[in-house]
Amino acid sequence: MIKIKKRKVLLLPGDGIGPEVTREVRKIIEWFNKNKSLDFEIDEDLAGGASYDKHGTPITDEVFYKALESEVVILGAVGGPKWDNLEFSKKPERALLKLRKELKLFANLRPAICFKQLVDASSLKPEIVSGLDIMIVRELTGGIYFGEPRGIKPIDKGERKGINTHTYTTSEIVRVAKVAFDLAKKRANKVTSCEKSNVMEAGQLWKEEVQALHDKEYKDVELNHMLADNCAMQLLRNPKQFDVIVTDNLFGDMLSDQASMLTGSLGLLPSASLGAKNKNGEMRAMYEPIHGAAPDIAGKGIANPIATILSFAMALKYSLDLDKEAEGLEKAVQSVLDDGFRTKDILTKGMKEVSTTEMGDAIISKLK
Ligand code: NAD
Repeated sequence: MIKIKKRKVLLLPGDGIGPEVTREVRKIIEWFNKNKSLDFEIDEDLAGGASYDKHGTPITDEVFYKALESEVVILGAVGGPKWDNLEFSKKPERALLKLRKELKLFANLRPAICFKQLVDASSLKPEIVSGLDIMIVRELTGGIYFGEPRGIKPIDKGERKGINTHTYTTSEIVRVAKVAFDLAKKRANKVTSCEKSNVMEAGQLWKEEVQALHDKEYKDVELNHMLADNCAMQLLRNPKQFDVIVTDNLFGDMLSDQASMLTGSLGLLPSASLGAKNKNGEMRAMYEPIHGAAPDIAGKGIANPIATILSFAMALKYSLDLDKEAEGLEKAVQSVLDDGFRTKDILTKGMKEVSTTEMGDAIISKLK
């Protein structure tokens, strides 16, 4: 077992706008080192298409081992049309899947926050989304995306059959539900657990195990159960009823994308993928913006770095136990938005358009 090195941060900028937005995070980490006397050890390497171009593989063993020994991995984004026709095992996205799977990152945290300054960017009415602050916890390493048996096989009369298996065990459900309950305790103390217990046995087990864990260890947290299709509807009808939503891999994939769009912009939303804590309380984790490599704007200096910067704020909070610094960074972002600074993707009339670098610099100036 490779030991996790405290405070070691591995930056994997990746492809497209990945390097541009990650550069701003690097500046912020260096600022913390210099001005707050923090001792982050920063390393940086290739992943995705950039790694394929140099090494013929989306992630080398060397980079993978660096990730294993880092307390925090920050990934920009991977992919782009240049690599679209590669065989599946060589595609840039394999780097991401390998890291999530091999680092055993089973809990994916996706906040959906609607900044008051950007309420008009949402497709919903301002009163529905203004002040929205939801955390979706998606199970990331189980369920139908990984269950066996799977595949496509020939059956009678020239027909074929596609098979995927939806499966969950007690321990897979309990460990992710714990993450959700613990998060709720630091927020509005409310968990909504979503499944399809009306039609799926694995959903019924999910509901029973979450309830049992609640009754045993988290009686002080409010727990509601909701069918996943109803949750999709409620997210549009009255999203502010939610605090923490916990759900499986498949429903989490859909619901977290839906929730992120309530806030109007891909360039603002961070995410965290967490593993289990070891007996020393250490945990592997990867932080990344929810957006992709945006090849349409890569190299133009106009990408919004806020999602990646807020991903680092999540790292400060969840991996590094630096809540005060995380809050300071989040406040700096808010303050820059208050001042009317906008990258192109969130630009509205009367606001000041800034480049990727200028946005990073403005946020750093607020940290001061
Ligand atoms: P995308 O998120 O890259 O882009 C969607 C749209 O949003 C584009 O118009 C883009 O310009 C804009 N956008 C995204 N992030 C932005 C930012 N920070 N600032 C300003 N505008 C931003 O999604 P896509 O176009 O579907 O995918 C492009 C490539 O990225 C594909 O190869 C895809 O496989 C890959 N991808 C990677 C990840 C990841 O690395 N986690 C996630 C999604 C997609």
